[in-house]
Amino acid sequence: MEDALEPKKKRTRGLGTATKFASSHPRAPALTTVPQTQGQISAPKVPKKTGPRCSTAVATVLKNQKSGPAVPAQKPCTAAAPPKLGVKKPSKRPAWDLKGQICDLNAELKCCREKTQTLDQENQQLRSQLQEAQQQATALGIERRTLEGELARVQAQAEQGQQELENLSTHVLELEERLGTQEGLVQELQKEQLGFQEERRRLATLLEEQERRLQASEAALSGSRAEVASLRQEAAAQAALLAERGERLHGLEMERRRLHNQLQELKGNIRVFCRVRPVLPGEPTPTPGFLLFPSGPGGPSDPPTHLSLFRSDERRGTLSGAPAPPTRHDFSFDRIFPPGSGQDEVFEEIAMLVQSALDGYPVCIFAYGQTGSGKTFTMEGGPGADPQEEGLIPRALRHLFSVAQELSSQGWTYSFVASYVEIYNETVRDLLATGTRKAQGGECEIRRAGPGSEELTVTNARYVPVSCEKEVEALLYLARQNRAVARTAQNERSSRSHSVFQLQISGEHAGRGLQCGAPLNLVDLAGSERLDPGLALGPEERERLRETQAINSSLSTLGLVIMALSNKESHVPYRNSKLTYLLQNSLGGSAKMLMFVNISPLEENVSESLNSLRFASKVNQCVIGTAQPNRK
Ligand code: ADP
Ligand code: MG
Repeated sequence: MEDALEPKKKRTRGLGTATKFASSHPRAPALTTVPQTQGQISAPKVPKKTGPRCSTAVATVLKNQKSGPAVPAQKPCTAAAPPKLGVKKPSKRPAWDLKGQICDLNAELKCCREKTQTLDQENQQLRSQLQEAQQQATALGIERRTLEGELARVQAQAEQGQQELENLSTHVLELEERLGTQEGLVQELQKEQLGFQEERRRLATLLEEQERRLQASEAALSGSRAEVASLRQEAAAQAALLAERGERLHGLEMERRRLHNQLQELKGNIRVFCRVRPVLPGEPTPTPGFLLFPSGPGGPSDPPTHLSLFRSDERRGTLSGAPAPPTRHDFSFDRIFPPGSGQDEVFEEIAMLVQSALDGYPVCIFAYGQTGSGKTFTMEGGPGADPQEEGLIPRALRHLFSVAQELSSQGWTYSFVASYVEIYNETVRDLLATGTRKAQGGECEIRRAGPGSEELTVTNARYVPVSCEKEVEALLYLARQNRAVARTAQNERSSRSHSVFQLQISGEHAGRGLQCGAPLNLVDLAGSERLDPGLALGPEERERLRETQAINSSLSTLGLVIMALSNKESHVPYRNSKLTYLLQNSLGGSAKMLMFVNISPLEENVSESLNSLRFASKVNQCVIGTAQPNRK
């Protein structure tokens, strides 16, 4: 910048000098005659141009230098301006007065020199002012750059501020939104608070009420406490009494068991009941008087114990040719159930016997008779679900469960485990088999429970714990299903096999360390009918003959075993049949036995009926020694 200004300065100085001359001599025609320099010749033209240029430069500097020291403005010397020096302008000299003219010129030169000096000083001043102004300009330039930098920084800050402002406004919007939500929440909470306040008031009222009651209760309690104390004393006395009574009750229970057993013994450890089934729809009505049930010595109110059967034999004839009168066969048993007797009536008679099993006496109940005489009906019940027709097995179990429940109040705990097998042609089959065992036929073996053990067990057979009627019903249903499967494979096999339902009973009186247990056996025997000797012996009949022989053999073994036990023989042929082998622990000794002989009411079955009645009579004559309960 200084460099740029430099030529101007020089120019100004040069021109300034020229101006002085021009302005001093605007009308100096003498100069043409006295030429000195080239510059002096052109000098008169210059001032017009330099004057304003010089004043503009100075004005510019002065303008820039507002705060600088004031320099008195001096008018530049122009050709027109009169000299301001104190030299008295000489009057016009005559042309010859060269000396005077020289003198004038010297004076004028002197004046010019002074003026030049003044101008130099002025110039000097202006230069220093210019320098100062330049310095100021530099400083101002620096300041400007600083300010520009500042401005850029401020602008950046402003942009950042703008950005922040935008962010803040977004944030403000968000906050406003949240505020709206919060306000909604606050309103809800206020509502809730109102609800709570209401609830609190309600609870406070309730509390007051409760407190009132509590106070009343406390008053009552203190009264009751005294009462409790006296009741406690009373309870202690009662407990002592109860313990004494419990002791007495136990004594009475033991006495009941002893008497119960004595009664059963008096009735006989082997008892035989005869049951005659009713004539079924579609069957021929028998001749009146074919079967008679004479009343006992006590009259018709006495339960019948006698039965008379009249058999007419066409082969026998009288001499006159008239048919021989029917032969009368009289039988007497422990009890006779004529055709109208219900299942409940029958069960009532054996309930006591069944209960003996709980007291620890093994019990065996058989149903003996020809096929179709009512054995299965007696043991299991009718074919339908009529509760009136329920047989002995479900009734006996229900009775046992209920007595066991009663005895639990005296400290006895009983458990029952059931099994149900079928003996067909001397093979044992599980009637409770399920799944693969069932598919394999459920064949089993009778074995001793352990070496030297008296207890017998059927290998592979299911022993199912039972505790209620429903479970027993399910087992009987399963057995019926299993028998039905066998029936399709082997014609009417069920009537050709013995079905043995066994219930292992275990009782314990933990308080007195007593245990008792005995099996209850309910046996539906195979049909006792003999094979018709007139039948042709085809392959089917031969199979039938083999079955019949097996049945007859096992039934006669049963008779022989009972007989041997009755006669107290040293050898009892239990092993002669699977049935007696399986039941050996429930026959003889302390065991109690009951045989139902089931009879058909039809005349056509008279001969089988007679056979059954004769077999049963033989059994009835047997007496087995005094029973001892199985106690441990
Ligand atoms: P078993 O088992 O001796 O072959 P069932 O018990 O199958 O004989 O009886 C043969 C038929 O007689 C069955 O239809 C049975 O319902 C019926 N029945 C047997 N006893 C009675 C009875 N006391 N009351 C009514 N129906 C009976
Ligand atoms: Mg049957």
